[in-house]
Amino acid sequence: MRQFQFNYIDATAFRAELIKIRQWCSASVTSHIVFQIYTETTDTSLLRSICRIIDSELPQAEYFGCSSNGNIIGGNFWEKPIGIICTVFQYPSAKMLIRQFKLTEETAEEVTDELKSIIAENSWVKAIELVTTIHDMSMTGFCDGLSEIDPGIQIFGGGAFAPDINSKSAIVFSKGGSIMENSVVFWLLGGDDMHITSTYVTGWKPLGKVFHITRCDGSRLYEIDNEPAYDVYRKYLNIKNDEHFFNNTLEFPFLYQHNGISILRAPTDSLPDGSLIMTSNIESDVTAQLAYGDPGTILESVRHEGKKIHNFRPETVQIFSCAARRSFWGNTEISKESMPFQNFAPTSGFYTSGEFLRTNGFVNQHNVTMVLVGMREGDAPEGKQEELTVDDSEFTGKMALINRLANYINAAFRDLEESAMTDGMTKLLNRAEIQRRISERLKTGDPMGLIMIDIDNFKSVNDTYGHNEGDNVIIGLADMLRRGIPAHNMEASAGRWGGEEFMVLMPYDMDYVIPAAKDMCDDFSKLEFPLAGHRTISIGVTAAIPGESLDELLKRVDSALYDAKRGGKNRFVVV
Ligand code: GH3
Ligand code: MG
Ligand code: MG
Repeated sequence: MRQFQFNYIDATAFRAELIKIRQWCSASVTSHIVFQIYTETTDTSLLRSICRIIDSELPQAEYFGCSSNGNIIGGNFWEKPIGIICTVFQYPSAKMLIRQFKLTEETAEEVTDELKSIIAENSWVKAIELVTTIHDMSMTGFCDGLSEIDPGIQIFGGGAFAPDINSKSAIVFSKGGSIMENSVVFWLLGGDDMHITSTYVTGWKPLGKVFHITRCDGSRLYEIDNEPAYDVYRKYLNIKNDEHFFNNTLEFPFLYQHNGISILRAPTDSLPDGSLIMTSNIESDVTAQLAYGDPGTILESVRHEGKKIHNFRPETVQIFSCAARRSFWGNTEISKESMPFQNFAPTSGFYTSGEFLRTNGFVNQHNVTMVLVGMREGDAPEGKQEELTVDDSEFTGKMALINRLANYINAAFRDLEESAMTDGMTKLLNRAEIQRRISERLKTGDPMGLIMIDIDNFKSVNDTYGHNEGDNVIIGLADMLRRGIPAHNMEASAGRWGGEEFMVLMPYDMDYVIPAAKDMCDDFSKLEFPLAGHRTISIGVTAAIPGESLDELLKRVDSALYDAKRGGKNRFVVV
């Protein structure tokens, strides 16, 4: 495999480059020649003339391309509008096909079905690269269709874009097809000696508050925490609902879990009713956080994921990186995350409106992500290889400031969250939180034992020794619960239910919960308080019954505690 990369300057220079390639090819064994053309201009007559020049100079070559928000050539972002990558495959076993389809939300299923039938007829397919327009449609149906393709086939690619981030115009094109909006090009690759690997990098980290998506329909997100979705951007980021909305929110996508992985997704539009348009469907009832780019984490992630690409010993590296990343780093710093690959393999790609990658079988459409693809013909070479070198010299200026502010927000937020969950005096969970956890566990139907505790004759402690000593006894019991449960080597959540009552959630069945309750009684009676001496507790124990309501469960544990009191206190009763 041999790759030639250059920026398009003019027809004469382009022709000269093609002649060089032709000369190289005639002196070598070649099986396929493929051009990838990434263009910031959508000037169709220019693009047509580029295609014609390839047709005339290298008629056997295939080509495809798309409009972009900037191109990566030689691992670098170049402020040149057209990047040309010519890959020459050399193994006779290499097989490939390029197909272009019209793509809209309505035709997505037809397109992926058609692709499936092409694959069924071509068992050699190992990977599918795609460039596609994504505006004006939700990519969910398209991705779901692609997910049904044999999971052994890798799928990756990028969304076409425009040089102006606020512009919606985007095109794709190919040799067999034409220059089109609302279209997708697939490049199918395979053959015995073709080896391809893919991964992705984000480096964006969740920020502060966890939001609940409370209402959405397809890719239109109506409400977050029962308020218009746009309000999140107004309230937390001070972003106006105007024509700059897309530009301003790009660097703060939502982060949530989908198909078992974290997905970043940015809105493309905000509507007057406060709803947001996303590039793929969002399920209601999921939680999401805003995310921000952290330069240190990004480069750490480049190093970590880059290692996988490096170890693969690729002959070429392709990058499909989000336009938001370019706008985040700025034109002078953006190459920090693509340059490390150029050190060991020619690296090219473009800045996208969305990235596609198959992970755990599912094809996901991401935003703000950098998809990395390594390709190689033949076995991995033995011996030394140039290093993956990531320049993560201490960040200064704006980047360092972002990092520290975000760190502050997250730390302050954790403090707040913690104090909202805990009881000030005992530092155990408060009633709302323990009740929430019981309710969550009950929904899963998994085993759960509840232990409800009440201090015996507690009023007399207060009356005889004063309120302070009463507090000491409460804190003594709380400390015991905190220490005592790990002694059983079990996970449990202990909370203050009120006054001198406590509730412990044990995610186990009764064989484990009952001995723990017995130990609590015994251990507490051994504690000695400065004035009140030895005291006792009564305990009610019960197991959750799958399908019952929280109310039923709590009533039962309360009645068990009542029975323990009536039975003479300092004991536990299981109901
Ligand atoms: P029993 O054995 O039946 O549980 O009797 P008891 O005396 O413990 O009865 P009861 O549950 O009625 O008493 C609870 C008392 O706990 C009433 C209230 O004044 C006191 N109390 C509630 N919260 C606190 C607190 O934070 N500190 C102190 N010192 N006392 C509290
Ligand atoms: Mg009580
Ligand atoms: Mg009591």
